[in-house]
Amino acid sequence: MERTLSIIKPDGVERGLIGEVIKRFEDNGLKVIAMKMVKMSKEEAEGFYHVHRGKAFFESLTTFMSSGPTVVMVLEGDNAIQRARDLMGATNPQEAAEGTLRRQFGSNIESNTVHGSDGPDTATFEIDYFSNDLEISR
Ligand code: GDP
Repeated sequence: MERTLSIIKPDGVERGLIGEVIKRFEDNGLKVIAMKMVKMSKEEAEGFYHVHRGKAFFESLTTFMSSGPTVVMVLEGDNAIQRARDLMGATNPQEAAEGTLRRQFGSNIESNTVHGSDGPDTATFEIDYFSNDLEISR
């Protein structure tokens, strides 16, 4: 069993896609073991995306991620990190495979509806960033 962090980004929440995204994960073997709605401050978004600090899109990305409520969840399942990323599709919705969440719902490379951890170390950092032990069902 593996855990990953997923976020329904402000565009997804605004467009009423919370249920659709969660259903896609649940229908594909990922169990939601923690979840909450979070309106990140700019500083919290910067901390979450710290690996991108210095990149051209960092300012825009962190402004976007703090622009409205998000749904943050921990998903658990076999190969959960890769499985969630496969369901999400490529970063740029125009390059994402047919049937993926980003292809179906993403507006552009930034407003791409959903986030998923990209590896085990990132997943650990990202889950810790938003969670405390009491919030994760066991
Ligand atoms: P991910 O793992 O597929 O989410 O992609 P990255 O870790 O490379 O980027 C993190 C997030 O930054 C993406 O999901 C996008 O929301 C945003 N992003 C990535 N590349 C770009 C870019 O070139 N321009 C802008 N505006 N945003 C980007």
